[in-house]
Amino acid sequence: MGIVSTIPEKCKRCYTCVRECPAKAIKVEGGQATVIEERCIACGNCVKVCAQKAKLIEDNTRQVREMLDGKRPVFACIAPSFPAAFHPVNPGNVIAGVRRLGFAEVWEVAFGAELTSRQYLGLFESAQRQGRPVIATPCPAIVAYVEKYMPALREYLAPIVSPMIALARVIRRAYGSDVRIVFIGPCIAKKDEIRDPCVAGAVDAVLTFEELLRMFCESSVSLNDLQPSGFDGLRCRLGRSFPISGGLLRSAGLSTDILENNIIVVEGKDRALDALHELQRGKGKARFFDILLCEGCINGPKMMNDLSVFARKEILADYINDQNRYVTQKDLVEGMAAFSDLDLGREFHKPSVALQVPDKDRVEETLKLMKKFSPDDQLNCGACGYPSCREKAIAVCQGLAEPEMCLPYLVDELQGLIKRLERSHNELAQAQQRLVQTEKLASMGQLSAGVAHEINNPLGTILLYSHIMLKQLQDGDPRKQDLQMIVKESTRCKDIVRGLLDFGRQSRVSKTLTDLKELVAEVILLNSPKANTAGVKVKSSFHDPLPQIMLDSGQIKQMLTNLINNAVDATPKGGLVTVGVTMQSQEKSVEIAVADSGCGIPRENLSKLFTPFFTTKQLGKGTGLGLAIVYGIVKMHNGDIRVDSEVGKGTTFTVSLPAATEDAVRESGPAGERQKTGLI
Ligand code: ADP
Ligand code: MG
Repeated sequence: MGIVSTIPEKCKRCYTCVRECPAKAIKVEGGQATVIEERCIACGNCVKVCAQKAKLIEDNTRQVREMLDGKRPVFACIAPSFPAAFHPVNPGNVIAGVRRLGFAEVWEVAFGAELTSRQYLGLFESAQRQGRPVIATPCPAIVAYVEKYMPALREYLAPIVSPMIALARVIRRAYGSDVRIVFIGPCIAKKDEIRDPCVAGAVDAVLTFEELLRMFCESSVSLNDLQPSGFDGLRCRLGRSFPISGGLLRSAGLSTDILENNIIVVEGKDRALDALHELQRGKGKARFFDILLCEGCINGPKMMNDLSVFARKEILADYINDQNRYVTQKDLVEGMAAFSDLDLGREFHKPSVALQVPDKDRVEETLKLMKKFSPDDQLNCGACGYPSCREKAIAVCQGLAEPEMCLPYLVDELQGLIKRLERSHNELAQAQQRLVQTEKLASMGQLSAGVAHEINNPLGTILLYSHIMLKQLQDGDPRKQDLQMIVKESTRCKDIVRGLLDFGRQSRVSKTLTDLKELVAEVILLNSPKANTAGVKVKSSFHDPLPQIMLDSGQIKQMLTNLINNAVDATPKGGLVTVGVTMQSQEKSVEIAVADSGCGIPRENLSKLFTPFFTTKQLGKGTGLGLAIVYGIVKMHNGDIRVDSEVGKGTTFTVSLPAATEDAVRESGPAGERQKTGLI
């Protein structure tokens, strides 16, 4: 794990860290932002901006505790920004707190700053003579950025160690290599700096101010209850101003005149990168670059409190002025003289990790993958963390980003999903309605079959005896008319009962391979007397070739009879009824359409057609069971029925049935050959 990592369950895909990372060191994978260790410069920007607190920083408190519990003396080196970090606690109490934790001595890093300032002054003068640029190197994040991403500028990095390393070298010279040294400051990148082989071995561990505070809490060190204490080691003055932007120059005694163009002081991520890019392009007159990635270390990622940079600067300036009362320039010069020969040099060898820029075609392809087909589609909204859709596409090519990170793309996908959901919701609602109808019909079918069966026998007896009595009566007998009425009405009852029995019977389906052409011809023939009497022609047409289909032929005959009868009933003399059979969607279903040129069906009746006992025919003519029976038969065949009708023009009932053809039945194996029986 690197110095900064992500807590996956806390990451909420806001991509703010992607946007704020100056090193493109954050990769989004499976929607999760992950820090790429070798690309990270440990600047801590992602830690600062993550509202979810999903970034984890390497914790070194345990390591330091183990050092403190060990035999060797442990020296604390405190970064000069500490009075602002622990405000309003008295700085002396913080120093006392550090001692209470068990540190043998507490030194101020500012002394290291004093030493390096002197080196900078020398370097500045020689660079000035040679006319070559210098990039100051106290900020480890800037050093890492140049080494990793701008190797062309590496030669301009000042070959001077940071104040932290300088102080560590001072302590090691004074106390030998046996001591342990812990740096404490607001910077995360320091944890990375001490591992750099070019300076390794000087500092043993780095704690952030936040980690120090945690150690105070864990060890129940109450800062305000302690007696204030002063620093050990050598005294310093302006070196304490290093964490303020321009502090290095002030400490080195270099001019920061606003009319001076050869020195540039830059702070903050964006301006820092701008300055470096400008230098790379060979633009500008500046020759000395004092660059800090944060707005000075007083705005470092682990300063803990919410004070503004200005408030922190004020606190620090007050502290420096106050402390300067106790240390004269002479004290400082004498202190430093002992280390005039200390080696404060360093080299830079971190490998470059600059990414390959993908070719134009690949970027274009990726833009299309992100649904950016034309420049108008490129909203450049920045929601993905990249300033433009093109830069995001480049990041996708480089394996840093995912196409789905795009907000407009997701909104688009979501809308499609909503539409698909709406469609399936409607289909589901329709299917449910059909199911309710089918269930209603099924239970009605069972009930009516039972009732019809019971009524059938007594009704037969009534009919039989009324016929016998009719025969026995003489012509002209006044009772004859009454008996005829009994026979007529009983016959009507018999028709209704037959209808009810048919309705009940549809719940049993017995499918066999059926020749539909033959079946339709037979039904038309059977119904031709009725059609002839009504003066209506019945024609048929068939898909050619028409394979045999698995059907319950008896029920399909009944279905067709009912549809043709209705059509004939609705069609005036001279009209035409057609029965058409077609195969649909690669022989997966067969459609049987019964069309007439009759009176049509008013819109308000359409929804009632399949309800049992709905009829518009006069008493004695219709039972209202024909279409209910048709509906039941269609459903038992897993089919569908639809009606298209226009009043005055005609009606078409189209039945669509799944077509298990002979081939399909054979392919489905021996079981398929058997008759299929379905029961509701
Ligand atoms: P019935 O034929 O006994 O009335 P159905 O269930 O067969 O019962 O038909 C119900 C009603 O649907 C009919 O009374 C009629 O109003 C209407 N109908 C059915 N088929 C047609 C058609 N082809 N043209 C016009 N109306 C029809
Ligand atoms: Mg009918």
